[in-house]
Amino acid sequence: MDSSRNGSVLKTFKSRLSGSKCMPLAVTHVVSTVILVDIYRDYILKDRKLFSLHTIFIAGIFGLLPDTDMIFGMVADIFRFKLPLLLQHGGITHTPLFALVFLIPGLILWNFSKKKYAVYCFVGVFGMMWHLFLDWLLGGGAYEGIMWLYPFSMHQWKLHLLLNLGVHNIPMALDAIILLLWLWHEEEKHKISDFI
Ligand SMILES: [Zn+2]
Repeated sequence: MDSSRNGSVLKTFKSRLSGSKCMPLAVTHVVSTVILVDIYRDYILKDRKLFSLHTIFIAGIFGLLPDTDMIFGMVADIFRFKLPLLLQHGGITHTPLFALVFLIPGLILWNFSKKKYAVYCFVGVFGMMWHLFLDWLLGGGAYEGIMWLYPFSMHQWKLHLLLNLGVHNIPMALDAIILLLWLWHEEEKHKISDFI
């Protein structure tokens, strides 16, 4: 893609959000990542040494990491400077490139037999890719969507189902439903009420 095309895509990309009420909220990002990694651990891998509770916790943190670009925006607002477009919400941290960078330390650690730490990186990559998928599917990141092919192309894709359905309370409901399903699973599988 030539630079003038990239420039025009960037203009539309801007910092407009997809409608803050129509994007997946933090709980959805964190808990859905935690649930998926936990399900993988409990039902497929069945290895609690390689996938400890720490691993699941780290997956959840990484599930939210792409949205740290909102902090850049807040800092820029406070100190009144203009952020480069790629650092605005939905920019570089919402690209597979940003997520896949964490494969490098993961593979190095795996090679040096630091498998537990390598897995932290791998679940991190999964958490961030899942975040991008949710933002693409439901609505989040930049207004125009996710730059799946960055840096080869700055074209953005989105389905943004929640925005298109126009049902504004769904993200809150989604948070609650996901949280309740997870609590139910943890109670069934790990009897968490024993610890309360
Ligand atoms: Zn996001």
